[in-house]
Amino acid sequence: MENSNDETDDLSKYLDCMQEIALRLIGIKLKINELKVTCYKYIEVEFICLQFRKILEFIALANLVSNKEEYAKKHQNFANHYHAKHILRDIEEINPNFYPQPIQFISTDEIPQQVADIESGYLTKEEFLHLYNECSEFLHAKNPFAAPKDLEKFYPECENWLNKIFILLYQHQTQLIDTKQYIWVDLFGEDGYAQGHVMESIFNMNNFDDNLKSHLKNYNPESEKCPDHGKISKFTSPSKLNQIDKKLIVNFECPDGHQFTREFYIK
Ligand SMILES: [Zn+2]
Repeated sequence: MENSNDETDDLSKYLDCMQEIALRLIGIKLKINELKVTCYKYIEVEFICLQFRKILEFIALANLVSNKEEYAKKHQNFANHYHAKHILRDIEEINPNFYPQPIQFISTDEIPQQVADIESGYLTKEEFLHLYNECSEFLHAKNPFAAPKDLEKFYPECENWLNKIFILLYQHQTQLIDTKQYIWVDLFGEDGYAQGHVMESIFNMNNFDDNLKSHLKNYNPESEKCPDHGKISKFTSPSKLNQIDKKLIVNFECPDGHQFTREFYIK
């Protein structure tokens, strides 16, 4: 495995991905605002779908920039039209924290000191899959026997999708694979360029059990929220390894008093 250990280099590669996304978001926005439509409306929508798909691919892959091999492998999977659901699951296996967490910088200093999670309005992982599949259908040549894609329904929804991606990424926290650093990203930072701050690791791996340490290198159980109440929950040792199903089962206790588990696919 060829890893780059240069944090600054990794960060700047991640920000390059974000810059690509930012420019494409603007491209879609301009296209939606453009009232004039070319002779064939499908061309307009196909342009938007192509940009959406590229944006989603960048979101999925950006966290892998610090590992050249993994990046290339997963990128190839997208190119080969593997099912997005499987690609995301694959990525989650190697970096459970790959999906951006939308945040809001609280302090207004040059380097933010504190952030708050954004709880709603952003593109969720489920919506990611939905949008990816929808866009793919528009981009593939139509099967003459299949019902035509509903362009009139999809076109007005584009602005909503755009806003959801914008909320997801405008300010977000993420963790690069093979690193213990979190980064806080400002999609439109100084001079309109994506900007990022590497934060010190906010968790201490020594507190976690051996199963977690060996199987989920980039996972921070201290950021796990209860699915019912959305509250940060307490990791409780030990995690159980299910070798037959290749799963790691991790236990948590919600501040409201009940227990829940999360399962991770492992290699
Ligand atoms: Zn709860």
